[in-house]
Amino acid sequence: MSSKRSIFVGIDLGTTNSAAAVFDGERVQLIRSAQGSGLLTPSVVRIDARGKVTVGERARRLVDQDPDNVKSEFKRMMGSQQTIAFPAAGLVRKPEELAAEVLRSIREDVKAQTGILPETAVIGVPALFELPQTAATSEAARLAGFERVEIIQEPVASGLGAGFRAAEDVGSFLVYDLGGGTFDVSLLEAREGLLRVVGHDGDNFLGGRDFDAALVDHFIELIRAQSGVTLQRDNPAHAHAFRRLRVAAEDAKIELSRSTEADVFIADIGLQGQSVALSASVERATFESLVAPLIERTITICERLLQSHGLVGAGSVGNVVLVGGPTSIPALRARVAQALGAPFGEGLDAMTLVAEGAAYYAASSGLDARGSGAKEAGAGAPVWLQFPAMSSDLNPFVVGKLVEASSRERISHVVISRTDGGWASAREVVDPDGTFAIMTNLVARRPNTLRIEGYAPNGDGPLLLAPSEFVIVHGVTLGDPPLARSVGVALANNGVRVFFDRGSPLPMRRTFAVRTVETLSPADPEGSLRIPVVQGEFPYAHLCRLVGAIEIKASSLKSPLPVDSLIEVTIELDRGGRLAASGCIPSTGDVFGHVAQLITGKVVPSELAPRIEELRTRLRDTRTKAFKHKAQKAITVLSSAEAMLDDCAIATQRAQGGDQDAGERAQRLLIDADALIAEGEGEIAWPDLDERARSGLTRWAGWIAEYGTAIERQALEETTRAMEKASLARNAREVRHHLATIAHLGNAAAMRSEGAWESELDYQISQITKSRDPKAAAKLVAEGQRAIQVRDKAALEAAVRGLWELAPGTSDKTRGLGHWSGVT
Ligand code: ADP
Ligand code: MG
Repeated sequence: MSSKRSIFVGIDLGTTNSAAAVFDGERVQLIRSAQGSGLLTPSVVRIDARGKVTVGERARRLVDQDPDNVKSEFKRMMGSQQTIAFPAAGLVRKPEELAAEVLRSIREDVKAQTGILPETAVIGVPALFELPQTAATSEAARLAGFERVEIIQEPVASGLGAGFRAAEDVGSFLVYDLGGGTFDVSLLEAREGLLRVVGHDGDNFLGGRDFDAALVDHFIELIRAQSGVTLQRDNPAHAHAFRRLRVAAEDAKIELSRSTEADVFIADIGLQGQSVALSASVERATFESLVAPLIERTITICERLLQSHGLVGAGSVGNVVLVGGPTSIPALRARVAQALGAPFGEGLDAMTLVAEGAAYYAASSGLDARGSGAKEAGAGAPVWLQFPAMSSDLNPFVVGKLVEASSRERISHVVISRTDGGWASAREVVDPDGTFAIMTNLVARRPNTLRIEGYAPNGDGPLLLAPSEFVIVHGVTLGDPPLARSVGVALANNGVRVFFDRGSPLPMRRTFAVRTVETLSPADPEGSLRIPVVQGEFPYAHLCRLVGAIEIKASSLKSPLPVDSLIEVTIELDRGGRLAASGCIPSTGDVFGHVAQLITGKVVPSELAPRIEELRTRLRDTRTKAFKHKAQKAITVLSSAEAMLDDCAIATQRAQGGDQDAGERAQRLLIDADALIAEGEGEIAWPDLDERARSGLTRWAGWIAEYGTAIERQALEETTRAMEKASLARNAREVRHHLATIAHLGNAAAMRSEGAWESELDYQISQITKSRDPKAAAKLVAEGQRAIQVRDKAALEAAVRGLWELAPGTSDKTRGLGHWSGVT
């Protein structure tokens, strides 16, 4: 491959294995790893006592010999603050630094095979990756020396890889990607040459390693039976034996994809002061029964995704693309085929599809790996060409310009032709300024190599141009990728102001106004206003993941920012899901920087156990009430929460034994269990809530009838209807939401009545001792009273609004839950 031609690099940076592919516009070539023999680079890094870094297969082979200094699965920690220690060298590395080592090694492999050290690439990330994880991936690429990268969601890449090869439009299809540690399922649609993601779902904690763990459990039983020794995961003295068992389990698992039986023999599993052997023959049927529950979990998630798009039952999608190592397991393939009733794509390689798709995508976004320094070299007259590298149109235009004045005199016409001889343009006239535009004619679903030649005014030719050839691929192009999880701002009352809903197409940008809940004074050196950005589907901020924050330091203000000041918050997400956020104070025009940092909470294993206990207590209380109310739905929800807490307890044990990944999993389970318990509590609160809804409605409707605007009256009517519907469906969350809307409308109307602000001030004075900040409240009361005297209605309103914000409703505890948000 010569450097005269563009090359496009795609990388699958996997949890377990990474792979790369290059596309030259004509064909895809997989990159071999110099470290091993195969096409995969295990995502494994070793740093030895002298600080020497080894990556890939060679590092993986050393895991048994030097387990403490060989690290894998760091992708699972991307975007967290966890670090990875290499004790022999006394070094500590961030997950993205280790990912960078893998990328650097791949970059070298690309150079070894193509002669080009790539400056740019497209890298895949799981669809359910949250913003900090995506940002860490970009950072890893930067550290590895890439000038520029684009991120693509892995299932999109798989779909592109598969769709590109599809002989015809396949309609909607499912990408089922089971990797070493993550499961992703995505619903895609290929129509009229356009590939679009319709939706996705998955589990960040389900993969091949769980299949290994199921086999390890089986081995533990065998060892107990054979030698009377009971191995424990939370016992650090057993860690070595567990590593050996895990390696043996993985080997056996892979063997069982080919054979119906696998022999396992370990002469000494590596317990200190004791020689224990493991000798077993595992039947495929035994393995299948061990992993059946895991396979079922993937099926449940697939069905949930299909159902949420109104697709029910086998055969509701036209095609399934299998991605990832475990999809080689025959029982898994059989079960997926049976449950989904759709054929698997033919001739697709489950291990390299993501990299291939990423390479096509690099071409479609014109991300030439030769980077900005790349120049077309050649003997002919230099011509600047602009065309789509990938097109879903069969007749795309090529626009060009003869760069040098001298060639404009020599060349008056150009011709573009396909090198397959199937088509050539007429001799098109070059304008006096050297420009021309030619409509081409492509062969469908193929790379088309096109030749461009010049002709002299007297008809002499063809004359050489540089470049003389280029490639346009006719194939699928990407629709904008959708957002995996909703993004919004956490509020001081632990609510969330959603900016972008899950599923909205990227890129996007949106601005909403929020109000401050306390005064910020430049005189206060410690003071700052925090606007947390969160991601998740829950209505409570504390259940969503903190992904960033805008921080406005009091010391950076020129004048005090009073309570209830307006701040315009803008959040922007690019195609790769990278986040930028800023705040603007319209009254002063000051703009406050981008997201301070992308943060995720660090998991402290010792803090997990008390939180589990706290949730168990809440669960018990709620369950007692649920039984009393015979609230069947609540009871069901609570028992799932209980199972989650049990899982969480096990993961916590592992975390305490030093397994960082288990800590992350425990954290996620805690959040999910918390959400389920909250749902159970909501269910029980039902009779009470319904009662409140009715009395609230009567009270507020009266005000709206008397003082509401036409729009408010109409909104009341609509909201009441919606609330009644939600009430019939016993949807507590929605009723609460509508009730809040009605209260808001009612309040706005009530405040228009004669003397309303005055009496509200009186009421607030009676509540002043309960205020979150009595001193500030006293000041506001004084301002309010002064405003009444001078009949300054606006000042009175401002004072009352300030008092509302200080009301005990938004307690410090609540604000803590809302990631210490300073806005509402
Ligand atoms: P990732 O996307 O996490 O990098 P991969 O798609 O490379 O993961 O899959 C890695 C997983 O696949 C590992 O758990 C590995 O044991 C498993 N695996 C690889 N080949 C096979 C096979 N032939 N049969 C079953 N499992 C396999
Ligand atoms: Mg993968």
